Amino acid sequence: MNPELQQQLKKLLILLLLATCVGWLAGSVPWALTITLGWLLGRNFWQLLKLQRWLDNPSQSDVPESTGLWGRFFDTIYRKERDHRASEAHLKAIINRVQESTTALKDGVLMVDAYGNIEWWNRSAKALLGLRRPDDVGQPVINLIRDPRFIRYFERRMFQEALEIPSPINSELHLQYTITEFGQSERLLLIRDVTRLNRLERMRQDFVGNASHELRTPLTVIQGYLETLQEQFIDHNPGLTRALRSMETQAIRMGNLVTDMLMLSRLETTDSLSDELPINIHGLISEIYDNALYLQPEKEHEITLDIEPGYLLLGQEKELVSAFSNLVYNAVKYTPAKGKIKISWWTNKQGGHFCVLDNGIGIDPVHVHRLTERFYRVDDGRSSSQGGTGLGLAIVKHVLLRHNARLEVDSRPGEGSAFTCHFPLSMLKADSNEESA
Ligand code: ADP
Repeated sequence: MNPELQQQLKKLLILLLLATCVGWLAGSVPWALTITLGWLLGRNFWQLLKLQRWLDNPSQSDVPESTGLWGRFFDTIYRKERDHRASEAHLKAIINRVQESTTALKDGVLMVDAYGNIEWWNRSAKALLGLRRPDDVGQPVINLIRDPRFIRYFERRMFQEALEIPSPINSELHLQYTITEFGQSERLLLIRDVTRLNRLERMRQDFVGNASHELRTPLTVIQGYLETLQEQFIDHNPGLTRALRSMETQAIRMGNLVTDMLMLSRLETTDSLSDELPINIHGLISEIYDNALYLQPEKEHEITLDIEPGYLLLGQEKELVSAFSNLVYNAVKYTPAKGKIKISWWTNKQGGHFCVLDNGIGIDPVHVHRLTERFYRVDDGRSSSQGGTGLGLAIVKHVLLRHNARLEVDSRPGEGSAFTCHFPLSMLKADSNEESA
């Protein structure tokens, strides 16, 4: 048994013994015992009252004091209360420090609950997004940042890449949003002002765009003269004709390079689609297929087409033509004579899919993750001899990014390649003509 309890029991027994002795001397043991037990009961009742009074308002008064068992009991409560207050103060200090440091951050911080409503923000977020307290607390974040690109990004819950769009209160300010999920589907938005970086990047892109544009006219003149000179010397000087033909091939290559660079710089300068129009995917792919037939007819490829009807694709026709033709022309370029190429489009629960499949030279897996880099070529000599610029797949990547789509490459050396563009369901629209037909 607990020694403390033993001692208390001993005290109680002595008290009762004393009461019995006093009662015996006074001539009434029952009365003496009743008075002693009544006194004990009253004392306990009094301590309970003190405890109840303190529990009713613990912050206003200290824990009551007493002796004996009750004293020990109150002491334990007092110690626990003191520890609790200390850890509460410590936690408060930590929260204050976190809030202070987050408030002092140059980047905006915005906390959003599981339902997408704003919970808290720091000073920078207020300046960057124009948030007002208390009106905006509890408001859905997509009501305050109404840009469709943000709404799409926020609702898609795929936050691997950051999103860059102008600020909702000042279109001159360019903001980068990075979202992290935490707790129970709550989201933390980090907002960075990237206006200066953006301006520098735009200057670089403008320079490439302008330089490519300026190169276009002299190149056209050179190509024109080369054609005329070839016509003049065709029968007289075979050596010179050969040189002129080679010069013309290189001039055409430079022309292609300039066109691709202009396309890339245009794709980069406007970060997302300004107008998404419904595109007749059947007509678009059929036209690319027709052109592919005349690209290298000497190779006698077996090119087949398989287009599933029913849906229109939302996007920019010119850009999609450029991306899809790059994939189809690559298949033609890198598939030897008599090879097979299959162009297909289909839709399912995941979205729309465009695939170019060939049984050409294929690509070693080590190169696959770098294919969409600018000027990355698996085999420099082969690409150049085919008139390749090394920018085709970079263009494909940018066009797909702007259409919320992604490129999947499946290839084996010597067996062939499959380049598939996956478009999300949000970029599809049911073709009403097909439905009524
Ligand atoms: P290029 O203008 O050199 O074709 P791309 O960016 O279009 O540049 O392609 C990058 C590289 O990917 C090419 O150099 C080529 O080696 C490889 N490649 C692309 N498509 C195919 C394909 N269908 N089969 C084999 N290799 C391919």
